[in-house]
Amino acid sequence: MWPDNEPSLLDRESLDALNERFRESDRAAGIELTPAFRPFTQRNDIFTRAFWDDTVRSAKTDAFFASYRSQFDARKGDGFSQRDFALRNASWSVSSAFSERCAEDGRREGFQAPLDVDVAVSDTRVELADPQAESVEIKRIATLFGADLVSIAEVDLRWHYASRVDTRDMSPADNALPEGVTHVIVMGHAMDADLVETYPSALAGASTGLEYSREAAIVTQLVSYLRGLGFEAVGSMNDTALVIPYALKAGLGEYGRNQMVLTPEFGPRVRFSKVFTNLPLQADTPRSLGIRAYCDTCDVCARACPPKALPDGPPTDVPVNVSTLRGVKKWSANAEKCFGYWASLKTDCAICMRVCPFNRGQTLADRLWFALATGRFRRLARWWADRRGVAKRLKPVDWWARLRAGRRG
Ligand code: SF4
Ligand code: SF4
Repeated sequence: MWPDNEPSLLDRESLDALNERFRESDRAAGIELTPAFRPFTQRNDIFTRAFWDDTVRSAKTDAFFASYRSQFDARKGDGFSQRDFALRNASWSVSSAFSERCAEDGRREGFQAPLDVDVAVSDTRVELADPQAESVEIKRIATLFGADLVSIAEVDLRWHYASRVDTRDMSPADNALPEGVTHVIVMGHAMDADLVETYPSALAGASTGLEYSREAAIVTQLVSYLRGLGFEAVGSMNDTALVIPYALKAGLGEYGRNQMVLTPEFGPRVRFSKVFTNLPLQADTPRSLGIRAYCDTCDVCARACPPKALPDGPPTDVPVNVSTLRGVKKWSANAEKCFGYWASLKTDCAICMRVCPFNRGQTLADRLWFALATGRFRRLARWWADRRGVAKRLKPVDWWARLRAGRRG
């Protein structure tokens, strides 16, 4: 048992064995655990705390969640009109349909429970090629379904929630995967660049909702395919396990000061989903991209954060509050301050994504900057980034004007 008697999928002996087994790949992924590490309990996630913890829950946080249904409070500010909220909520609607359909059973799919895919595992197993060939093929299938990035990691219970949450009463619920599941397919979903430029606004929240809705469909399709092949598959969005360590271990990017995975393709402008399976696959390896080292020289996101929720110093394992993953030396946000700001806006904020210099386009200048930022000349890249200035917010009214002129994207 853990010192505070929280339930866990792992006892100390199993945890030590995983630490030993993954020591090298943790190091390669930039993951530094301390003896204080223990798996995260989903009940302490800031979004879950907003339902049971009176130090987080308030009329404002209740109104925040209600605004994602029809009780939004359109207001005069640019980006918070009825059209902005309507577009945001419509973008979320597919994901919301998934998360609400089993709510009566206490399973908010995609957030506090895996996606419930109504396809049984086929009694017949397909004849397999070798794991490497299967891995190449499954990545192509995931891309066919719409994933923008796909990579594979080994299942590692250290990143799985010690317990998930029964949303009827927020009590701990079992979070075990089916027996024999060995790999996780991690998928990246690029967010719309123009919409992200409009953060903070209700309009910008459409960029998040769109990807959650797409994720729900893509994950469901991939799970159905794997089960059709005769293999177990569990589809997951924010539920079941922390996706950031998996994305790092799968080599999709590096961890940034803004608490996001910074990818070479899209910078931080990407969301992740995952599918756990027992299909024999070959895991990818972490990549040394030089992105994280740039964060050591930069604090643009921390300076731009309105409630000052991001750290400006070096990584540390000192927990900010109960929502911090314990025993990992990393940059950790103050989730209470961050979510408090979201609640006051009545929409999500991703200013720290918008302003990150890795959230760039693909012009020649952008590619040259990336090469400098990830190599020996990162200080020159920093100077150049400062000269270019922090990415300005696109006014929501201008986004709508572009849309109406047919010039979007
Ligand atoms: S999402 Fe907004 S409030 Fe939260 S850390 Fe980023 S900039 Fe700060
Ligand atoms: S803004 Fe700078 S410090 Fe923040 S994540 Fe991006 S590169 Fe790293």
